[in-house]
Amino acid sequence: MPGRSFRIARIAGIPVGVSPWWLAIVALITWSLGSGYFPEVVHGIAPGASYALGLASALLLFASILVHEFGHALVARRHGIQVDEIDLWLLGGVAMMHGDAHDPGAELRYALAGPAVTAVIAACFGAIDLLLPSSTPEILSALIGYQLLINCMILGFNLLPAFPLDGGRVLRALLWRRSGDMGRATETAANVGRGFGYLLIGLGALEFASGFAQGIWLAVIGFFLVGAAGAQSMSAQVRTVFSGVDAKSLMSSPVVTIPAEISLERAVRDYFVPYRYTAFPAVDAQGRQVGLLTLTQLQAAPEEQRASMRVDELADRDPQLTIPEQGDVSGLLERPAFARVGRAVVLDPRGVPVGLLSVTDVERSMRAFRLAHRPGTPRADQSAVG
Ligand SMILES: [Zn+2]
Repeated sequence: MPGRSFRIARIAGIPVGVSPWWLAIVALITWSLGSGYFPEVVHGIAPGASYALGLASALLLFASILVHEFGHALVARRHGIQVDEIDLWLLGGVAMMHGDAHDPGAELRYALAGPAVTAVIAACFGAIDLLLPSSTPEILSALIGYQLLINCMILGFNLLPAFPLDGGRVLRALLWRRSGDMGRATETAANVGRGFGYLLIGLGALEFASGFAQGIWLAVIGFFLVGAAGAQSMSAQVRTVFSGVDAKSLMSSPVVTIPAEISLERAVRDYFVPYRYTAFPAVDAQGRQVGLLTLTQLQAAPEEQRASMRVDELADRDPQLTIPEQGDVSGLLERPAFARVGRAVVLDPRGVPVGLLSVTDVERSMRAFRLAHRPGTPRADQSAVG
């Protein structure tokens, strides 16, 4: 999974982030192109020019991947899926989305949008390459030639039917369309993805053993695929288990609430110390939810302000941290705020807290589900017809 990334821009309303790893990759590509590739392609190139060409190529590659991800993101947005961020990291880009496509047709269009953009980019570089006059400096034609090559490689790799690569998403959409069961389609596509991952690891190891150091790269990509496919099939399982499950049936209750107008000092003395919970909903005089006060927030607040600061000044008021009693748990699991804080307040129709739903509650019922549905056991909610 991508590490912590920092934002570099905002394009079409979508924040663009860069992982620290990506910077290392840019340096690595610059170095390997500057020291190996360009000196071979451009005769008699000076070392400085070769590394400059390497850096320009790495940055152009970065731009191509960014445009590819925007292809996905804009189609997703047209289908009503919220795009939180586009992240560039180790091996390419990831569009971080809120939710999944609602039907196989939308998923198919979403999956194909990125490769379609890359195909257009490759075609453009191909056309420029063909149209360049013979008097063009060798450095420029080498730059264009490399972009043509690398975009064709990105296109080919992305279209492998190995979920979660784009080709694997296409496969999942087609399976989903045929069976109508998204969970099972994800499972199958993820298994194919894992198979491809192991194949790449094997090929990489074989290549390395025969004396080709670049075999390492194939193996690294293989490991990435195996891990990503596993993570995707896990989140599909979670969605299958919790779709249609309401918050009320999973929450822990009754819940202890804190009056929003008391001081932080009193909150610590009368609530956090005696109850030893790590979070409390803060409520107004009518008992209605105002925000969520967590131990982490208290620890971060300066100690000398505890006597003067009120609970409602510190409590987290993010509406993403609340869910109605009848709210769907699978939707909650996709909220970044829930993942960050680890709990949400369950509210009755008047807005009064009736329970707390924590990641632990969710994990507990996930374990119980697994116990009841070991692999190979037919699932009660599905027909035996494949
Ligand atoms: Zn893509």
